[in-house]
Amino acid sequence: MGKRIVMVGAGLSGAVIGRMLAEAGHKITVIDSRDHVGGNCHTQRDEDTGVMVHVYGPHIFHTDDEEVWNYVNSFTTFMPYKNRVKSTVDGQVYSLPVNLHTINQFFGQALRPDEARDFIKSKAEDIAEPQNFEEQALAFVGSDLYKAFFKGYTEKQWGCSPTELPASILKRLPLRFNYDDNYFFHKFQGMPEDGYTPMIASILDHAGITVKLGEMFDPATAGDWDHVFWSGPLDGFFGYELGRLGYRTLDFKEFRYDGDYQGCAVMNYGNADVPYTRITEHKHFAPWESHEGSVLYEEYSRACEPHDIPYYPIRMVDEKAMLSDYVAKANETTGVTFVGRLGTYRYLDMDVTIREALDTGRAFLAAEEKGEAL
Ligand code: UDP
Repeated sequence: MGKRIVMVGAGLSGAVIGRMLAEAGHKITVIDSRDHVGGNCHTQRDEDTGVMVHVYGPHIFHTDDEEVWNYVNSFTTFMPYKNRVKSTVDGQVYSLPVNLHTINQFFGQALRPDEARDFIKSKAEDIAEPQNFEEQALAFVGSDLYKAFFKGYTEKQWGCSPTELPASILKRLPLRFNYDDNYFFHKFQGMPEDGYTPMIASILDHAGITVKLGEMFDPATAGDWDHVFWSGPLDGFFGYELGRLGYRTLDFKEFRYDGDYQGCAVMNYGNADVPYTRITEHKHFAPWESHEGSVLYEEYSRACEPHDIPYYPIRMVDEKAMLSDYVAKANETTGVTFVGRLGTYRYLDMDVTIREALDTGRAFLAAEEKGEAL
């Protein structure tokens, strides 16, 4: 007989694991405190303009993982979409990620790829093993490009000096010596035709799954279930008893425009004196649609207070001890598996979240078959 299993959180992790276990015959309940499924991927069509709005900020699906790509495509139709981000710095608009166009425009040059490679090499600082974001950036592009495109933006985004952040954050971004301005270098990239929420609703659409929205899950009741998959904040499960892990939250200041406001989906602002990090114009995330009106978000990042929505785990160097204590507690907690961005306190892209959810679901079923403690 199937087990009674609860997924706390109706985002990607809960949906993917829930679906797999429901298909294996378990009885799944998915609980989410919000009134919609999809977690922070949630999208909603704006009634006035018809624009599909990424309610919790832009989400662009990109992956090299063929199984994950096939998985999402089995639940919805993906439309071709390439993320081409611009950055406004000192009154000029540049192309991101830093590519040959950015380099030539910024330095007033007409360099060919090999020349640009040598030129940037001469600018980059010789730091063998960069220990933080700033060192990584200086070793990557040198001080001029770092100050223009990364320093101010990163201070706004993370609310601290780039010297306090891990180098890994910058490693997310490529540097190109050609004119390729695709923000991502993955093989597969696209947008779900009707947004992410219907895709996730379709993953959850199974006879073995009951979805309960607008409901809080009390970790004290975990023992009432055969197993719990927790995709809420890791520290929240333990009542923050060791302290709060740091997050950044985002405020979106929405405004509307009759026409095309900025001509692209994402415009970053590199200067520290512009208070927002970027402006997103949602209709450009669905270039196959046509809308007169426009819905835009100015995006502001700030420290996450207890009642705010946690977005980005900060993972500051001095938070490592608290994190490892929470991870140790999580490992000791039987009957509960911690999953996803909040449950594992990591900066995860959607494709990695799905990959890990598929692996976690499979590991659960394999352990169960062997009769191991879960
Ligand atoms: N970043 C930056 N300038 C930019 C874009 C990104 O300095 O114009 C830095 C910033 O610290 C950011 C990191 O690079 O947090 C990773 O960027 P990504 O675009 O992956 O951030 P996300 O879209 O996930 O917020």
